[in-house]
Amino acid sequence: MSYDQIEVPENGEKITLADDESGELSVPDNPIIPIIHGDGIGQDVGPAAQKVLEAAAEATGRSVEWLRVYAGQSARDKYDENLPEDTVQAIKDHRVAIKGPLTTPVGAGFRSLNVALRKKLDLYANVRPTYHLDGVPSPVKNPSAMDMVTFRENTEDVYAGIEWEAGTDEVQQVKEFVEEEMGYDETMHDGPIGIGIKPITEFGTKRLVREAIEYAIENDRDSVTLVHKGNIMKFTEGAFRDWGYELAEEEFAEETITEDELWEEYDGEQPEDKIVVKDRIADNMLQQLLTRTADYSVIATMNLNGDYMSDAAGAQIGGLGIAPGANFGDGLCLAEPVHGSAPKYAGEDKVNPTAMILSGRLMFEYMGWKDAGKLIRDAVEKTISDGDVTYDLERQIEGGNKLATSEFADKIVENIEALS
Ligand code: NAD
Repeated sequence: MSYDQIEVPENGEKITLADDESGELSVPDNPIIPIIHGDGIGQDVGPAAQKVLEAAAEATGRSVEWLRVYAGQSARDKYDENLPEDTVQAIKDHRVAIKGPLTTPVGAGFRSLNVALRKKLDLYANVRPTYHLDGVPSPVKNPSAMDMVTFRENTEDVYAGIEWEAGTDEVQQVKEFVEEEMGYDETMHDGPIGIGIKPITEFGTKRLVREAIEYAIENDRDSVTLVHKGNIMKFTEGAFRDWGYELAEEEFAEETITEDELWEEYDGEQPEDKIVVKDRIADNMLQQLLTRTADYSVIATMNLNGDYMSDAAGAQIGGLGIAPGANFGDGLCLAEPVHGSAPKYAGEDKVNPTAMILSGRLMFEYMGWKDAGKLIRDAVEKTISDGDVTYDLERQIEGGNKLATSEFADKIVENIEALS
C-alpha cells in the first residue's frame, strides 16, 4: 500500500474484513484510522474529537493511530485539488474513518465533496442517531423519550442527480417522451419546466433495509420502521415499503415479525428476541416523532424523507452542535457530524465538538468497541450536565460555565478518566 503524500503510522495495524466471509470486520487493538479534519470549524472540532477518542480507547485497553488525510481547503493547499486519490484510497484501505465538515460553494464552483466521497466509496446508508443527553436544552417537554437511529438511503431518490434544467433541449426531449410515448398528455403545464427523475431500486432498498435490520439486531433495538409516501408515489416509495418487508421475510425471518403478526400471534406482547418491522407514511411519521416518540427505534427510509426526518428529530434533542452521523457501505464506515463548516467561527476555539465526538462514538460502535462508545457518551453527558459547555449551550442554560472547544474536550477526557 503506498500513497503519494501521506505517511501511514508504523505502530498501528489495519482493520480488515474477517476471513470467514461473514462480512464482519476484524479490528486490532491499535487500529490505524484515517481522519479528515475538514474545512472551517473542522480545525477546532477535529483535534478536540481526536483527544477524546484517544482517551476512550486508552481507558478500554486500546489505542488509535491516526492517519491524517485531506479534503477541501487542506487538500487544495497540499495537493492542489479538492479530493485527492490518496484520501479516497486510504479510507477504502482502512475501512473505518472519520471526517469533519467540508465547505460546498452555493450555486457555482465544485459539487459537494461530501456527495463525491459517498459516491466514490459507495457509502449507501447515512446513519443518524438521535438521543438526548442530560443537561442539553431541548424545545420539547420530554426529550429523553427519543432514542432513535435513522438509516437514510444515500444514493437514489430525487437526490440521484438525474434532472434537467428548464429551457434546455434535454428537458424538452424528456417532456415529449413522457407525453407522447408514455401517454401522460396534459399532465404538465405549458411553458418552462424543470424535470427530475426519482429512481428507487430493489437493490438500493434491500441493502439499506438489510443494514438497518442488522443494526437493530446487533444493538438490541425492538423495531425497524419503514418510512415512505407510498400512498401517493406507489411505484417508488410504495415499492420501497414492499421490498423492505420482502427483505425482512427473506433474510431475517427468525429475528423479525410484522406489526400484524405481533397482534395476531403474540397478542401485542412483543417477544424479547423479535424485532417488529412496521411502516409509516412520512407525513404521519413527522407527527409521531413528537406525539409517540418512544414508539420508534430504528428508521429505514429513502433519501429525501431521511433528510427531513433526521433534522426534525435532531432538533428535538438539541440541534446541530450535538447531532452525530456516519455513512456505512459494505464493510466501510465514514463517520461525520451532521453540521457544516460554520465558516464564521473557524479557528476561534469556540464551537461545540460534541457532534464530532459522538460521530466518533458511532465509529467505535461500528468497530465493535461498545464499551469505549458508552464511556464517551457517559463522559459527554456528565460534562454537559455539570454545566461545563461551549457557548451554544451556555446561552441556553442557567449557570453554565462557558468553555472553549479545547477546554470542553479536556473536561470530557477528565471525566473519561474518572468514570473508567
Ligand atoms: P453549518 O452547520 O455550518 O452552520 C450553521 C450554524 O449552525 C452556524 O452558523 C452555527 O451557528 C451553528 N453550528 C454549526 N455547527 C456548530 C457547532 N459544532 N457548534 C456550535 N454551533 C454550530 O451550516 P451552513 O452555514 O448551512 O453551511 C456552511 C458550510 O458547510 C456550507 O459550505 C455547507 O455546504 C457545508 N456543510 C457541510 C456538511 C458536511 O460536511 N457534511 C454538512 C452541512 C453543511
